[in-house]
Amino acid sequence: MVKSSVLGYPRIGVDREWKKALEAFWSGKLEEVAFQQQLRELRLKHWGKLQAAGIDLIPVGDFSYYDHVLDTAAMFGLIPKRFAYEGGVVPLSVYYGVARGTKEAAASEMTKWFNTNYHYIVPELEDGATPVLTENKPLIAYREAKEALGIEGKPVILGPLTFLKLSKGYDVSSETDAWLDRLLPLYVQVLKELAREGVRWVQIDEPILVTKLGAEDLQRLKKIYEALAEAAPTLNIMLQTYFESVEHYRELVALPVQGIGLDFVHGYAGNIASLRAHGFPEDKVLGAGVIDGRGIWKATLREKQALLAELAEVVAPEHLLVQSSCSLLHVPVTAEVETKLPTELRAALAFADEKLDELVLLTKALNSAGTTGAEIASVLEQNDRELQQLQQSAVRNRGDIQQAVAAICEQPLERSRPFAERHTAQQEQWKLPLFPTTTIGSFPQSAEVRKARQLWRKGEWSQQQYADFIREQIDLWIQLQEDIGLDVLVHGEFERTDMVEFFGEKLAGFAFTQNGWVQSYGSRCVKPPIIYGDVAFIGEMTVEETKYAQSRTQRPVKGMLTGPITIMNWSFVRDDLPREQIAYQLAYALRQEVEALEQAGIGMIQVDEPAVREGLPLKEAEQADYLAWAVNAFRMTTCTVQDTTQIHTHMCYCEFHDMIDSIEAMDADVISIETSRSHGELIHSFEQNTYHLGIGLGVYDIHSPRVPRVEEMGSMIDRALRVLDPKLFWINPDCGLKTRGREETIASLRHMVEATRIARAKY
Ligand code: GLN
Ligand code: ZN
Repeated sequence: MVKSSVLGYPRIGVDREWKKALEAFWSGKLEEVAFQQQLRELRLKHWGKLQAAGIDLIPVGDFSYYDHVLDTAAMFGLIPKRFAYEGGVVPLSVYYGVARGTKEAAASEMTKWFNTNYHYIVPELEDGATPVLTENKPLIAYREAKEALGIEGKPVILGPLTFLKLSKGYDVSSETDAWLDRLLPLYVQVLKELAREGVRWVQIDEPILVTKLGAEDLQRLKKIYEALAEAAPTLNIMLQTYFESVEHYRELVALPVQGIGLDFVHGYAGNIASLRAHGFPEDKVLGAGVIDGRGIWKATLREKQALLAELAEVVAPEHLLVQSSCSLLHVPVTAEVETKLPTELRAALAFADEKLDELVLLTKALNSAGTTGAEIASVLEQNDRELQQLQQSAVRNRGDIQQAVAAICEQPLERSRPFAERHTAQQEQWKLPLFPTTTIGSFPQSAEVRKARQLWRKGEWSQQQYADFIREQIDLWIQLQEDIGLDVLVHGEFERTDMVEFFGEKLAGFAFTQNGWVQSYGSRCVKPPIIYGDVAFIGEMTVEETKYAQSRTQRPVKGMLTGPITIMNWSFVRDDLPREQIAYQLAYALRQEVEALEQAGIGMIQVDEPAVREGLPLKEAEQADYLAWAVNAFRMTTCTVQDTTQIHTHMCYCEFHDMIDSIEAMDADVISIETSRSHGELIHSFEQNTYHLGIGLGVYDIHSPRVPRVEEMGSMIDRALRVLDPKLFWINPDCGLKTRGREETIASLRHMVEATRIARAKY
């Protein structure tokens, strides 16, 4: 019999109970005992759901109190020294200290989990640290599920190779083997104890196997799995990969494990090609990830059936496991509550719970092949109908948009003159001083601002009242910016909650869920918009506020837009169009806003792209293509303006130092970029690739309420000017100031202007 499984289930709960419990515990409103009890109830509830849905092999141990990578580090007692951890089971206070920082010690770094928007805590393998098994977390989870619900669970463990590769603090070239030698015995111990308990299957996650590994790592992989197989011969190991196709298929299937899990959604082409070319070992179970664990759409069940039929020709039914492509952590819990969405959209959605049903149905269908159950046939027909209805709906068939975008793609995506000439024209137009100062766009969203928005949303304030309030805020901050002495002003973004949602709400083709939350990092959840139709410009989105701000000052006010790639990467997008096409539709819509701003007399327009890097494919071979069309989308958005109109962009939150060529190709007149958290790497890479356009390296970190001293900013400026052309240099903070307080913002900006004054005198 074919069986079904998932790789993990969302932790947050239908109503984000998880988030609420964590935050209540942190704030001291919830005692530890009650907190533990609430989380246990949540775990049981989730297992109960998987059980009720009919999932055969239920994951246990994928639940977390914050993040599963941190869990793994804590299980091995790998807590950085600065947290004064004294050994034994890691107390919650230490665990959360590592994640969030304490008064005495800075938090561990947080970074993106492969190419998802989930962030994990980076383990620090410190010199001289000796890992020990503090508690067998997978075993504890297994027992809990068994005792409470009689579930024969599948413990989920982050594999040793991936764990090592994601950790930092050690010298990768000389210390990897020593670390492996310290960790491997602990993994052995975990598995031995699981085997002794009678556990049948364990899922060991090694997503690192979808990236290219060198000979040494392949050697380590072999060593790891030989040791684990030998240690626990009665235990079945499912070596699980996801997010892409595996790079080293032949080495992988030769390992002495009982199962190999492959992603047949995001790694379909590569994995199916490997399987066709090299077959699949008869003695192993194939974990067939056929249901998209990251996307929100219902599967085309007939296509999945055909795929499974092909796989069933290669592996025997008892060796086939129908799975999600990755953990369901990356999708919202259930679409059932989304009653306010357009019918055709809602009918096509499958969040975590709906995916369980899909998996069970496909499994059932395989097991009853030949008997063609009437129930299955009717589900398949309904699935065809629902997907067709969305496909044929008017929102997905905007001929006007499709033709316009196709036509634009034929035109050169270039400003009318090269940067050097534009630069001269812009200097004449704007007469900006040396090292112009500016900010990234948002100013503090005070309690008052949030309150006003609430009143307006609830209908207690009229549109006029709210608009007047926004104008007052703009007045206030235009005045403040002038007082502080900034050169290029902004309106402050008081009308926006979120830089993507704001635009999505004003464009056609978007929908917003009521409860479609997914975990982003720790207790923080995001509710991405859904791009489900052709994206179209409906009307001006930012002109009114920007024009108003400009009417209040003689200095230039920068218009402020979110770029096409960022909007796309922070949304759930339709899967019937290539992402490139969606990006161009967004670009075409935003270009109309750029043109409207220019028409309204706004001569500087910033198009933010903080999330360009997030869409970068895991496969190196695909990266150049992605970057090329991402650059095209930016150019499409901005290329039609006059020479004297100055296009700005902004990037932050991640490493840009290896994509400077692409950034330059975007051809923005000025870029402002976050610098303080890149520890000089960015400046270092500018030393190697001279950047030829206007650039502002952020001179202070906006993530902290601390007001930096003038000299600190001065030294950042001096350092940047050692490598950058002073004539092209701008001075600005790292990012928007929306989360900061008003007084500290004013004080910091005054220091920034003062540091600029000193720098101007020197050059
Ligand atoms: N313009 C936006 C702001 O200032 C940019 C935010 C971002 O880069 N994430 O808030
Ligand atoms: Zn930013």
